[in-house]
Amino acid sequence: MNQADIDSFREILRKMRQDILEQGEDTLEDMTGEREMYADPADRASAESDRAFTLRLRDRDRKLIKKIDEALERIEDGTYGECEDCGEDISKPRLKARPVTTLCIKCKSRQEQQEALHGD
Ligand SMILES: [Zn+2]
Repeated sequence: MNQADIDSFREILRKMRQDILEQGEDTLEDMTGEREMYADPADRASAESDRAFTLRLRDRDRKLIKKIDEALERIEDGTYGECEDCGEDISKPRLKARPVTTLCIKCKSRQEQQEALHGD
């Protein structure tokens, strides 16, 4: 991967991170703004489950941000784009589709097959 590729992936990752954080702020505003609107207990219950859903999403976002941070560290280390399993280069189309990936497509499919075998 050349320097221009590295720079463009760094930009993609920073943009992803920023988008998630901005969405997170919107979510927080929604959550505080809705509190007074539901006088009816049934409405309130559905608002509560919406909130649980939002919190789950945010948990997923937090995990994604961690992955993005790790990818940015790999960019600084010069190891970005290497498969952490076999050490080969991850293809650029794969990185573009999933910039936080740490596995090449071969290792990823092997991992998915193993997960399918073990259930879960
Ligand atoms: Zn691999």
